[in-house]
Amino acid sequence: MGKEVTYLHCNIGNVTIGRGWPIAVQSMCNTLTSDVEASIAQCVALHNAGCDIIRLTTQGLKEVEALGAIKAALRSRGITTPLVADVHFSYKVALAAAAGIADKVRINPGNFSKDHTVAMEKFGELIDICKEYGTALRIGLNHGSLGERITSRWGDTPLGMVRAVMEWLEVCVRKEFFNVTVSLKSSNTIVMTEAYRLLSETMATELGMVFPLHLGVTEAGGGTTGRIKSAVGIGTLLGEGIGETIRVSLTENPVNEVPVGRKLRNLAANFSDNKSVIPTEIHSDTLEDFIIEASYAIGPHLLKGGDADFPLKGYVAGKELSPEVMDDFRSDLLQACRRRFAKPEYIACPSCGRTQFDIEKLLDKITRRTSQFAGIKIAVMGCIVNGPGEMADADFGYVGEGNGKVTLYKGKEPVQRGISEDNGVEKLVELIEKELSAKES
Ligand code: SF4
Repeated sequence: MGKEVTYLHCNIGNVTIGRGWPIAVQSMCNTLTSDVEASIAQCVALHNAGCDIIRLTTQGLKEVEALGAIKAALRSRGITTPLVADVHFSYKVALAAAAGIADKVRINPGNFSKDHTVAMEKFGELIDICKEYGTALRIGLNHGSLGERITSRWGDTPLGMVRAVMEWLEVCVRKEFFNVTVSLKSSNTIVMTEAYRLLSETMATELGMVFPLHLGVTEAGGGTTGRIKSAVGIGTLLGEGIGETIRVSLTENPVNEVPVGRKLRNLAANFSDNKSVIPTEIHSDTLEDFIIEASYAIGPHLLKGGDADFPLKGYVAGKELSPEVMDDFRSDLLQACRRRFAKPEYIACPSCGRTQFDIEKLLDKITRRTSQFAGIKIAVMGCIVNGPGEMADADFGYVGEGNGKVTLYKGKEPVQRGISEDNGVEKLVELIEKELSAKES
C-alpha cells in the first residue's frame, strides 16, 4: 500500500484554496501601492472583473501602511477580496505586512539573507507572526533566481527549484504551519510544467502532504503570445489535476488577466481531459476564446513532443478563421511549446508597483524593432531590483533603472548602464546586431 497523502488547503481571508475548492483566479495591481486612490480603483476594477485574490507590490513599510488603507477602503465598500503583500527582500516588511495587514504574504525566503542559516531563522520568525495573525504565506521561487548554493548542486533546473522550495516547506512542517501555497514559475513552459509536476510528486512522497499550488507562467508577455503561453503552461497542469490557484501574467492592464484565468478555470472544470484527444476543429465565440481553448487543448500534446503538423480548423462565431490567422496561431503555439522558434522570444514582466516605465508600450516598440531576430530571447523588465533575477535564460535584457534610464544586459551581465530611455531600444538593437555579427564572423 502506498503512503497516505494529505492534500492541504490554505485560507486567505475569506477564500480557501485547495483540492476540492474552486480554482481561485488571481491578479496583481500595477499601480504604485503608495498611490492609495489609484490602487483602490484598480482593486475595484479587478473585483468587478471577477478576480478572487489581489496582490500588491509591498516593497517598504510605507507600502505596508498604504496596503492597510487600501484594505480598509475596500472593506468599507463591501469588497472582501483577499489582499496579498508581494514582498521581495526585506523580512521586516514581510513581518509588518503579516501582522494583521495582508491576508497573505508572498515571499522568496532565500532573499531574506545571503546566509542560509540566517534566512531560515528569519523565515521561522515570519511563520510565528503568520500563525499569530492567521495570515497565509506563498513561497514563490522563480526559475533563474536560485542561489549558488542550490544551482551548484542541482543546477538551474526544475529539480533545483523543487529542492530549494522543499527546504522551506520542511521548516513549515516542523513548525506545524500549513497555511501555505507554493509557486515555481518560469517563462519557459517546459521548465514550468516539469517543476510543478515534480514538486507535487516530491511533496507527496517526502512529506506525505501536498501544499496547494499557485500556477503561473512568469514574464509571459502580452497579446496573443502571452495568452498562448499561459494557456499552455497553466492549462496543461490543470488538465492533470495540478494547481489550486492561478495567475495569468500579461504585460497589459491587469484587469485583462482575469477573463483569461476564468476561462482556463472553466475549461479545466468542464473539459478537464486535454491529454488524450487532439481536436481537429474548435468553435469559439471570440478570437480570444479560440486562442485560449485551442492552446489548452493542443498545448499538452506539443509539450510532450506530439506531432507539430497537427490538423486544426478554427471557427469564431460560426465563421472559419483564415489560413493567415491559423498560420500565425500555429507558429505562436509551437513557439510557446518550445518546438519551433519563428520569432524572437520575449520575456516581459507583467509590471507592478515597481515598474519604471510604460512597459506595454515599450514591449510593443521592442517587438516591432526586433522582429528580425528569430530565436533570440529578449527580456523586457520593469525594474532593476527584481528584473535581472527574473530574466531567467534571456540572451539580452532591457531593464528599467528609474529616472528615465535603462540598463542593457547580455545574458546575466549588465553591459551598458545609464542609457536614456529615449534611445534605449536603438541601443538594444545595436547590441544584438553586434553580438550576432561577432558570432557569425
Ligand atoms: S521585474 Fe517587473 S513585475 Fe517584477 S518586480 Fe520588477 S517591475 Fe515588478
